[in-house]
Amino acid sequence: MKFLGTSRIVAVLVVLAGSLAAAVFTGQRFGAGEVEQLLRRDVEDVGRKWAAFLVSRPADLTAFIEDGEASPELLSFFRYASIGERVVRYRIFDAKGHAVFASDSGEPARPAANDGGVGRDTALPAKLREGNAHIALKQGRAGAEPKRYGEAYIPVFADGGLKAVVQVDVDQTGLADVLAGSQAQIARVTGALIVLCLLLPVLLLGFYYRERLKIGSRIRRLATHDALTGLPTRELFLDELQPTLRQRAEAGSPVAVLYIDLDRFKEINDTLGHATGDALLEQFARRLRANTRKSDVLCRLSGDEFAVGLVSIDGQDAILRFAERLSEVLSRPYQAAGHEVVTSVSVGVSVAPGDGDGSATLLRKADLALCRAKDDGRRQVRRFEPEMEHALAERRAIEQDLRSAIDRDEFELHYQPILDIKTGREVAREALMRWRHPEKGLVAPNAFIQVAEETGQIAALSAWTLQTACAAALDWRSPLNVAVNFSPVQFSSQDIPELVRKALENSGLPPHRLEVEITESVLLRRSQDVIEQLKAVKGLGVSIVMDDFGTGYSSLSYLTGFPFDKIKIDRSFIWEMESDPRKRSIVEMIVKLGRSLDVSITAEGIETEEQQAFLQKAGCVMVQGYLFSPPVADPEALKLGGPPGKRAAA
Ligand code: C2E
Ligand code: MG
Ligand code: MG
Repeated sequence: MKFLGTSRIVAVLVVLAGSLAAAVFTGQRFGAGEVEQLLRRDVEDVGRKWAAFLVSRPADLTAFIEDGEASPELLSFFRYASIGERVVRYRIFDAKGHAVFASDSGEPARPAANDGGVGRDTALPAKLREGNAHIALKQGRAGAEPKRYGEAYIPVFADGGLKAVVQVDVDQTGLADVLAGSQAQIARVTGALIVLCLLLPVLLLGFYYRERLKIGSRIRRLATHDALTGLPTRELFLDELQPTLRQRAEAGSPVAVLYIDLDRFKEINDTLGHATGDALLEQFARRLRANTRKSDVLCRLSGDEFAVGLVSIDGQDAILRFAERLSEVLSRPYQAAGHEVVTSVSVGVSVAPGDGDGSATLLRKADLALCRAKDDGRRQVRRFEPEMEHALAERRAIEQDLRSAIDRDEFELHYQPILDIKTGREVAREALMRWRHPEKGLVAPNAFIQVAEETGQIAALSAWTLQTACAAALDWRSPLNVAVNFSPVQFSSQDIPELVRKALENSGLPPHRLEVEITESVLLRRSQDVIEQLKAVKGLGVSIVMDDFGTGYSSLSYLTGFPFDKIKIDRSFIWEMESDPRKRSIVEMIVKLGRSLDVSITAEGIETEEQQAFLQKAGCVMVQGYLFSPPVADPEALKLGGPPGKRAAA
């Protein structure tokens, strides 16, 4: 509303009020009184001209008054002045008021003796004698006289005395008409101005309030819609969905809420930049719109989270089919800021009325289903199930318990042997954390590592693991290597080289006996900084192992970015090798790749002799798995050895 501020409105109103006052003043000035004045002045002017002419010829005047004989000059003046000055009748009276000359008979002549005088034979009115003019405005008799005419009696003074009185009747029909026309015109303009002055403020105010409403709705839109994608926000989504839920419930029809999350969006943002991330989100929102109905309710919940209130579909099966199809469409590659971005989505689904009848409840349950979809490996669609709420409660309990577990020293390390596949000798031990929970017993790391990462407690846990593992390794009979897992989160919150240096220093473990295991996701975060930290750790003489190889985002590119000492093939490949020939090919390829890069390959999760035989044939160097031993609290008590495949865990 920049152009229509309050001060400007006031200024416009002041100008309008001024115009109105000017118009009314002009209209008043040019009213009936002013017209009469003008007409009087007109006829008086003519009379005075005649008087002036007579005064300018004193000899002619005296002769004329006394004898009634007009000189030729006087006569010609009377004639031509009559025409030029619109004079329709004139008379000249002597000082006593007797008519001495008149045009009454058409031609100027001395009037008959009974023609009367100014005062109809009475004495000349005092007004004239005193030198004042007498003016009268008249309506003429139809036919005989002009419609409007003015009559002027002008005294003529010469040689210090009154000599005569001139009477002229001037036709004012035309002038009166012109003046009346102007008067009407002015009245019209004044009227229009008055209407304008009254109307304009009303229009201005109307315009002002309309603009205010528009701006108000624009502000409301900004507050309720996401600026990047133009989609409604969470609050608007919940508000819009609620009445629809009621209507559909009355009609006995279901409403589904789809909670959609772009998998690994943070990694895309970190590696390709925020501009690409934004472009991806915009395209994502466009695709979401294009693949849903107008009646469906959409929103952007936060960064890479979106929701759809599906109100145009009937039947549980149809809802899940739709969610699968939408997930497939949204997982197709995007062209964002010059990059081809390959991503996928995870979707959580809740359905009313079964899962609840409030929009917020449905969204929360769809969120729980989404968490399950992510836990199940992403790129999944999961329908809400009541046990998910129990899982959530469980997670909250872990979060709570973890806080005191560190203080109460409830963690311990178990060790799993890593063997040379050819000799069957133990060459290293992987330290794996366990939580001895006072009620739940021994809890495996998968149940709490992620929670610890999210709450930041992982830093303290990892520092403890590293210290404990290094110290334990020094007590082992044989100088075996010890492998310690590092969480991706640590690389952004801790100084890893310093942590490792201190652990080595405190324990006295030679650096070559320590192996640091990281997963590919470590490299996805701020990769350059992470690589610098890894180089510094390697510089201490410690080995760097890439764990769970093959499960990450773009495994091969990381192998060229950093010189790893070892690669561990993820156990999922090992388990699926027998049933899936493609997994077998991948394992063979990784082993070959390791050989050509001069990196030692370890296979983890070996449970059967067939798996072991295959890996041996493929050229794998080291093995780890339940076939040899599960992680144990006291690895020194293990009895390993003998030919491959004939070993048993202690
Ligand atoms: P990981 O580093 O890949 O460890 C190997 C996991 O595979 C261990 O699970 C081990 O018990 C399991 N495993 C080994 N062989 C077999 C097998 O033959 N069959 C089956 N079914 N499993 C096998 P665990 O101990 O439950 O650890 C799970 C993950 O938790 C680890 O995967 C590691 O990523 C993480 N983790 C464990 N300890 C720590 C730690 O101290 N710090 C951090 N940051 N992460 C840890
Ligand atoms: Mg590991
Ligand atoms: Mg692993």
